[in-house]
Amino acid sequence: MDIDVASNLKKVLAELPKGTRLVAVSKFHPNEYIEAAYQAGQRIFGESHEQELVKKYAQLPKDIQWHFIGHLQTNKVKYIAPFISMIESVDSMKLMKEINKQAAKSDRVINVLLELHIAEEEAKTGLTLDACRELLSNGEWRTLTHVHISGLMMMASNVDDQEQIAREMTTAADFFEEVKKQYFSDDDTFCERSWGMSHDYRIAIKCRSTLVRVGTAIFGPRVY
Ligand SMILES: *Cc1c(COP(=O)(O)O)cnc(C)c1O
Repeated sequence: MDIDVASNLKKVLAELPKGTRLVAVSKFHPNEYIEAAYQAGQRIFGESHEQELVKKYAQLPKDIQWHFIGHLQTNKVKYIAPFISMIESVDSMKLMKEINKQAAKSDRVINVLLELHIAEEEAKTGLTLDACRELLSNGEWRTLTHVHISGLMMMASNVDDQEQIAREMTTAADFFEEVKKQYFSDDDTFCERSWGMSHDYRIAIKCRSTLVRVGTAIFGPRVY
């Protein structure tokens, strides 16, 4: 290994305030990198490809909490439902229903985050604020007894303008308060705000993030 994962991990962790947890994004990195972070105490890892995740799950310690953070096709849910700790990238009722169905088969309740589309870029996935409001006001989600909505996730625009990033994250944080008040005021486990990556997690911390998803700053650049 030509990268000091443990020391990179420590540096990132030292910057996180109480109440903000780290998702170490290990996609495209080999098991030995994950093991190095695990040895240093990290337990939450993020992956974005179902096949890669299933393989790593089989080979790595079972007390790892895996977060799925990529685009998830409904026909792939069944492969990760037996073990996934959180699916952060839920952006449709169709996907949520499939997660519910597959979680029921494993007798589990799967925690999910609703992914918001706030960034100005076209390509980003996720629900617009209005689409998210509509999904929640529809109420069908309440019937999904094997899915628990734990909070919101978003990716800010990939720009250098720190103020734009902060604006987008603040929009997400304010929207969290709106949704919390309207639908989850009596549910303490609706509490997660997942934003911040390697280039903007310091901004995310200031914008009320509870989960930062950091890959490159810990594991180095990905080799695709
Ligand atoms: C890859 C990825 C990250 C981590 O990105 P880095 O820039 O390597 O920190 C975070 N969130 C999502 C959704 C990702 O796909």
